[in-house]
Amino acid sequence: MTNRVDYIKSSIEGMEKTIADLQTACEHKFSITKSFDEPKISIVNSVYLGIEGNNRPKGSDFTITCSKCSLVKNLSYCFSCPRCFEDLKVEDLVNWRSDYKEDRYRRFGYYGVRMSTCPNRDFSIANDEFDQ
Ligand SMILES: [Zn+2]
Ligand SMILES: [Zn+2]
Repeated sequence: MTNRVDYIKSSIEGMEKTIADLQTACEHKFSITKSFDEPKISIVNSVYLGIEGNNRPKGSDFTITCSKCSLVKNLSYCFSCPRCFEDLKVEDLVNWRSDYKEDRYRRFGYYGVRMSTCPNRDFSIANDEFDQ
């Protein structure tokens, strides 16, 4: 150690490592700290509308923070459950966008729909996916 700045830098590195260790070992307790806009429901009851073409719905991003270790995660309800924050499980690509999107399907003829569902079965969303 040659000067105070080096000393401070190495102290910060040590603290960052401690924080990373605490966050890795934590049994997280997440809650939403920046909310999303409520997603639109598709024409199938209980299935929400996700990505259209390549576009994520406006307001689909949200932030969760752990109250025990302050870990922050930025998520989107197109990929993560907004109720229990699990990663959504993707299902097979289906061609029948009209089943979910009514006449809106005409705008993105080359896209299929991939259903994504929470493992806890409390959230399902229909995301478009390029299909050619
Ligand atoms: Zn935590
Ligand atoms: Zn869920």
